[in-house]
Amino acid sequence: MVTRKSRSEIERMRRAGRVVAEVLDLIEAELRPGVSTAELDAIAEAHIRSAGAVPSFKGYPGINPSRPFPASVCISIDNEIVHGIPGDRSLREGQIVSVDAGAIVDGWHGDGARTFYIGDAPPRVRQLIDLTRDAMLAGIAAAVPGNRVEDISAAVQDVATAAGLGVIRQFVGHGIGTAMHEEPQVPNYRTGRAGRKLEPGICLAIEPMFTLGGHDTRILPDDWTVVTADGSLAAHFEHSIAVTADGPQILTLA
Ligand code: MG
Repeated sequence: MVTRKSRSEIERMRRAGRVVAEVLDLIEAELRPGVSTAELDAIAEAHIRSAGAVPSFKGYPGINPSRPFPASVCISIDNEIVHGIPGDRSLREGQIVSVDAGAIVDGWHGDGARTFYIGDAPPRVRQLIDLTRDAMLAGIAAAVPGNRVEDISAAVQDVATAAGLGVIRQFVGHGIGTAMHEEPQVPNYRTGRAGRKLEPGICLAIEPMFTLGGHDTRILPDDWTVVTADGSLAAHFEHSIAVTADGPQILTLA
């Protein structure tokens, strides 16, 4: 069921979204060769908790019931697409690093992600990162009353197709509210189904995942990390947004 949030509920989601954006800003400022992904996770968790929020990813159930997600942010490097687990690994020059953060404030969720490059990215990698963000923004621009979920999917996919980028299909955007993952699903490609009509109060996490190769994925033995099957580099951007009569409003802003 797709729920429509009231104006005051959207304001509460904006508070959660602000924490998410602050976490991503903090991590961006700490990105450099030598920093470990566990250090970045510790910075994220400390900020989330100091803001009176709860890290929504920590303890989130995955495909293996005995291995809930152990950290507060996902950090996915190079051919890792999403759900990378922070740990001892230190970042190195020449890596593409995606950071996904989620926070809960008073029961309301925010979810956002950005992709960074350690150093100066080669042109094709720069394009992958820039166009994944552009596709997210194109998807957001399509999130207006009267449009359908498929309009968002089409706007996202067209950016990838024009540049010959792969579009991950196995993982999709989603409704968001009092749960991190609500209806409807928001694919990053045309499904051929119009999907839910968008109305004011519908809140969505729009999150394209693009690659320099194909769209097939596999999950590493840690039961979480999703990688490209062909080893190609991947990028991921995500904002939580609200559909309103005045147009889409991004909730994950600092
Ligand atoms: Mg999400």
